[in-house]
Parts: sequence; C-alpha cells; structure tokens
Amino acid sequence: MPIKNRFSEMLPEITAWRRDFHENPELLFDTHRTAGIVAKKLREFGVDEITEGIGRTGVVGVIKGRSTTSGKVIGLRADMDALPIYEATGAAHASKTPGKMHACGHDGHTAMLLGAAKYLAETRNFDGTVVVIFQPAEEGGGGGKEMCDDGLMERWGIQEVYGMHNMPGIPLGQFAIRDGAFFAATDQFEITVVGLGGHAAKPHEAIDTTVVAAQMVTALQTVASRNHDPVKNLVVSVTSFRTESEAFNVIPQHVTLRGTVRTMDKETREMAEDRIKGIAAGIAEAFGAKADVSYRKGYPVMVNSTEQTEFAAQVATKISGDCATAPLIMGGEDFAFMLEERPGAYILVGNGDTAMVHHPEYDFDDNAIPAGCSWWAGIAEMRMPA
Ligand SMILES: [Zn+2]
Ligand SMILES: [Zn+2]
Repeated sequence: MPIKNRFSEMLPEITAWRRDFHENPELLFDTHRTAGIVAKKLREFGVDEITEGIGRTGVVGVIKGRSTTSGKVIGLRADMDALPIYEATGAAHASKTPGKMHACGHDGHTAMLLGAAKYLAETRNFDGTVVVIFQPAEEGGGGGKEMCDDGLMERWGIQEVYGMHNMPGIPLGQFAIRDGAFFAATDQFEITVVGLGGHAAKPHEAIDTTVVAAQMVTALQTVASRNHDPVKNLVVSVTSFRTESEAFNVIPQHVTLRGTVRTMDKETREMAEDRIKGIAAGIAEAFGAKADVSYRKGYPVMVNSTEQTEFAAQVATKISGDCATAPLIMGGEDFAFMLEERPGAYILVGNGDTAMVHHPEYDFDDNAIPAGCSWWAGIAEMRMPA
C-alpha cells in the first residue's frame, strides 16, 4: 500500500480546503467556522453520525465499515486551531486576519483527516468503526482534555486512538515515531516578588525587588543543572521579567517572573515544582522580601503505547518505505490526554525543509497530503481488515 491513488486524485480538492482554513484561522476554542465546515463536509461525505459541540467546539464523526463484526472502534484525531502570530509567508492563501495564523499546520491536519473521512465513507473497506475526532484548542487550551471530559472515549466506545502532526525537517511525506514518552509535560510558573518600593536614590530604605528577582532567575538555572540527573530531560526557562514601573528612578514594589517547565516523567516534574517553590521562598527570605508562587500543571507527558506505535510505523513504512525513530520533543501536545485514556500512537509526517512550526514564515506543505491521508486510511484498513 504505497500512497493511495485516490488521494493523489483528491489532492487539488483537499488542498483547496486546507488553504481556505489557512486564510481563516481561529484561536483556541473559537473554532466555530472551521468546525462548521468540518461538520458540513462530513455530512456531504455520508458519514453515519456527526456530533458537534463536544469539548465546546469539537466535532465527532462515525464511519461504519462494510461490516462491524470485529467490534473494533478506532479514533483518528486532528486539531483545528491556529496561533496568535502575524503571518509573514507572503503566500496567496495567507491569513486574512492580522495577528492570527495557522503556524502549526493544524489547517493541514484538519484537511487531511477530512480527506481520509471522505475516502473511508466512500470505500468502507474495513470491518469495524472509525471515529474521526476534530478538536479545538490544542495550542494551550486543552481542547483534547475537554473532549475527553465530555465523555469522548466512553460515548463512542473508542478502543484505540491515533494522532498525526506535520514536522519541518523531516523529508516531505516521510514519517517518524517514538515509542513511550514522546512529548513533554508542560507546566507554567509565576513568581511575584513583593519587596518595598521606593526612590532609586535611596536603596537602603527599600527592599529592591529587581535585585531579588534577578537572584531568583540565576538560582532557577540550578534546578536543571544541579538538582537533576543529567541523563534525563528537564527544561526550566524563565521567559518574562516584569516590573510594575518603567521609570528610571523608581524601585518597584513588585516584580513578576514567568516561565515554563518541561519534563518527561512524574518524579522530575514533582522535583522541579518543589525546587522552584523552595528557591523562590528561600531567596525572598534572604533579602527580606516575599515570594508568591503559582505553579500550574499543563499538558501531561505524551506517551505512545508500544503495540500501537509498532503498528503505526508499519502503516507508515508501507506508504513511504521507511519510518524513522523520532527524537524526544520538549514541546507539549494535548493528544497526551487522549493517550492517557486509551492506548494509541502519535506520528510525525515530514513537512520538508521549511520554517519551523510557530514561525511566522511557516506554511504546511500541501504535497504532504497524500501521504498523511494514506496513513489515516491505512490505520483503519490494516487494523480492521475487511
Ligand atoms: Zn503548535
Ligand atoms: Zn501543532
């Protein structure tokens, strides 16, 4: 099963859908237009059952095979949301909304899963049930979690779930996957340092929050470098240092630090949280200041299941002749919530030598569509052979 001819035929049509999504990006849960088009197209394709409004703006479609005697039910998931970025591709199909952009290729993911749904509803060449899942708010909103909280897995009886993301740097249409932990847990912290504001010319009468916060930034570097086993993975990044005054002659009363923590296992995640809180409190105390720390747990580690990963790689190999081992990725992915509920696998499809995802010059390469659609179709047809 190399690339299916049907998807080469459908390429202009699926490309047109993809470019329409690209021109009309929507953020987080606000994917009303995209979800509306998805539901409308699924109806046109003759998909058996369509439900909107799961996880606020998610869409679920059911496609029954020619027979369903196997009793198998497989979920295939795509994400629909864009990013708050000013597009700089100069493409004819560039975003029509300044400050919003499909810079992660979710336009391509949605179009590819729609293409696969159209093909699967036409051919029904499998014994079982496919559930196509279109989720909002992958980029930080936890749309996948909200769909799970709405009973996605139980309500549709999903037994296994599969996801796909394009990736620049992997040759176009080639695949890469990784067994076990694959994408990192992504947590956020915010530390508010409370000192004693005052005149910059009278530092002895103030408790200088900028000096205290600067010590914290330096000390936080030791969580990864000194507290953590160097053969394991951890990122602690301070990404924002904000004072309440921009004046040249004021010692601010408050400084707020923000940052992110990326981990690949539970123990490291807990250790990092403990150390961040301890460092903030200890340094504040040493300088007579106070530190309020809020630590927000985000997406969990995304863990591929072994059996489904091997199967997903087999399907990819049939299409592209090979499936590479992907490296660990310290980014987050909210498909992690679905993989916490059901076994499954998440694969990368190559976007070729393009700007990286989340870059203003990134664009999904439509020539990856036949390979991506063939993989979706192959998951259904090979896992549930007719
Ligand atoms: Zn992204
Ligand atoms: Zn993405």
